[in-house]
Amino acid sequence: MTANHTTAESNNQNISVQTLTQFCDDYLSASVFKDYAPNGLQVDGGRPIQRIVTGVTACEALIDAAIADNADAIMVHHGYFWKGEPAPLTGMKGRRIRKLMQHGISMIGYHLPLDAHPITGNNARLADMLDMTITGALYPAESHPVGNIATCTPQSADSLIATITQALGRTPLHIAAEYNSSKDAENNRPIKRVGICTGGAQDMIEQAATMGCDAFISGEISERTTHIARELGIDYFACGHHATERGGIQALGEIVAQKFGLPVTFIDIDNPA
Ligand SMILES: [Zn+2]
Repeated sequence: MTANHTTAESNNQNISVQTLTQFCDDYLSASVFKDYAPNGLQVDGGRPIQRIVTGVTACEALIDAAIADNADAIMVHHGYFWKGEPAPLTGMKGRRIRKLMQHGISMIGYHLPLDAHPITGNNARLADMLDMTITGALYPAESHPVGNIATCTPQSADSLIATITQALGRTPLHIAAEYNSSKDAENNRPIKRVGICTGGAQDMIEQAATMGCDAFISGEISERTTHIARELGIDYFACGHHATERGGIQALGEIVAQKFGLPVTFIDIDNPA
């Protein structure tokens, strides 16, 4: 577990959880996204906010770290109440929420809005870290698309592997675009147009190929992704769900720290997946 303190000028300021959530809702245009979980305030801890902890996922380890840090709110990318999950507050789900409530800690989650934001979004942050420039959307016809197309200095797959390893602190799993021999010449082209969508977006690889990308970068990989990459002639880089989604919530925490002058600490609960 590592902690990154983004502490603005220390003072005794506090804000209401509604003020904090409204600011983030507006900043991320949260209401325009159709999502798999509610965005914004998910658990109201019932007290003013003086200290904030951010993290990728609102797991019990992050809650324990927030308690140890005397935080009043946790802000995450992966919150609770996902579509299709059992509703009762029992077992693991009940334990997490009980702990938050007992300690008066609010939990605020932003999923797709935090993937998509052009500055603090996970995709934007990842593109920045990889020295890439976002030039468009993977699904340009959608009104609020998630997933981007970026350009980079023309480079080999090996060079991109090195860049990703350096930026994220872990080596990506690379599937070379090699199967379709009629595309050999094309496949040996340097990578310069790249589809990016963090997390579990491996199935967007077909759209990236349709949009003429040389490569697609995401977090996870499925068995089928390998065949799709090879047969569509597009390099695939699985860089880790967690590893590709640390950027957005950290960036949002920095915006909040600046806006309200509150201490915000990013706590990374290590996750190899
Ligand atoms: Zn995710």
